[in-house]
Amino acid sequence: MSSDALANANHYFQKASSILELGDDVTIQLRTPHREVKTECTIRMDDGSIGTFVGFRVQHDNSRGPFKGGLRYHFEVDEQEVTALAQLMTWKTAVVGVPFGGAKGGITCDTSKLSEGELQRLTRRFVDGIYEVIGEKTDIPAPDMYTNAQVMAWFFDQYTKYRGYAPGVVTGKPVAIGGSLGRAAATGRGCLFACENLLEALGDSLEGKRVVVQGFGNVGSWAARLFAERGATIVGIADISGGYVNPAGIDAEAAIAYVGAHRTLEGFTGGDHVDGDTLLATDCDILVPAALGGVLTKDVAESVRATIIVEGANGPTTPEADEVFERRGVHVIPDIYANAGGVTVSYFEWTQNLQNFYWEEERVNDELRRVMKNAFKELWSTSRSRELSLRMAAYVVGVGRVYEATKLRGV
Ligand code: NAD
Repeated sequence: MSSDALANANHYFQKASSILELGDDVTIQLRTPHREVKTECTIRMDDGSIGTFVGFRVQHDNSRGPFKGGLRYHFEVDEQEVTALAQLMTWKTAVVGVPFGGAKGGITCDTSKLSEGELQRLTRRFVDGIYEVIGEKTDIPAPDMYTNAQVMAWFFDQYTKYRGYAPGVVTGKPVAIGGSLGRAAATGRGCLFACENLLEALGDSLEGKRVVVQGFGNVGSWAARLFAERGATIVGIADISGGYVNPAGIDAEAAIAYVGAHRTLEGFTGGDHVDGDTLLATDCDILVPAALGGVLTKDVAESVRATIIVEGANGPTTPEADEVFERRGVHVIPDIYANAGGVTVSYFEWTQNLQNFYWEEERVNDELRRVMKNAFKELWSTSRSRELSLRMAAYVVGVGRVYEATKLRGV
């Protein structure tokens, strides 16, 4: 995703800005990030050597509330990618109506080459570099690719050394230290609700649908499990080790247990091993990209056989591929709505932290269902009335709300 990520994000934003007739001044104002921080993260490696990494935090917009967005630890992380992802967060929080702005962070590193101790030191060093610009009412990070609840726990602990007890400074924490029940599953569950909402609008249901999930980490594995629980058949899954296809159905629970024991799906025998592109072209009804951005290129889009795409990942579809899907009548449920379950339950976690009052999981899931349903109604009616794809409808709704808040607050 890295090289084109920002161009892609700007492409959709620019289109929305034109549809909303915002004008050049406002377009530049909304597109320009509020603050970009780049910080050196030097740590002692286990072998005694010195490791120097670079971390980023980009705060895109806070007109609707504190900055909010995940932390990604990946070797492709760079300024452009983080800026693109921060912008997506601004529109996403607006689409689902949670009172946050948009931000993103990350460290350029390969977590498969870091020990747990190194990962902890790196996380703490990153907090040292950004603690002055984040906070419960300022900017609230969360997990993203290759970060998890444990990383959030270290992050929270390091922050408290500077500012005292403030669990709301980061979401996606373990439940034992102020995390929310239902947060781990939230992005995958949000993908499920998003898909069910579309199917309902189309007069259809999930029962018996064949689903392929690309990426089998937090988002992908939960999506596979929850789609299967709702009567779908998982016919393909994939992670960094490649794809696994089985038309008769893959046992999602067995695959999750396998990853729990082996870290990846490498060696999983519940499906035939295929390469990544073959997986995406597997015969199915629903495709859930839940790994990196930019995987659905123009060529890949021509070969995709699904009629519904649920963007669990951020930015999985290039603008050229998006045009192919539109021409072919494939329904694309866009990232800024489809994967918003994560930030929505992060919002619930944050409110629980601020109130020091904790919810039962049923309440979390019910509230998430309600948020996703209400947001879908708005997207669907905007899409119908303005004759826009669901993606452009989501952008028009999201950008429109951020514009309204910006205008009300004044220059
Ligand atoms: P994760 O680190 O838990 O899992 C990533 C998965 O992607 C792993 O299974 C990994 O093996 C796989 N993967 C990596 N490279 C791959 C490749 N080239 N081909 C196939 N699979 C590959 O990450 P996650 O938190 O599940 O995030 C996945 C996507 O969802 C990202 O785009 C992220 O931005 C987006 N997202 C995550 C959340 C969240 O709450 N975690 C919320 C919204 C969006």
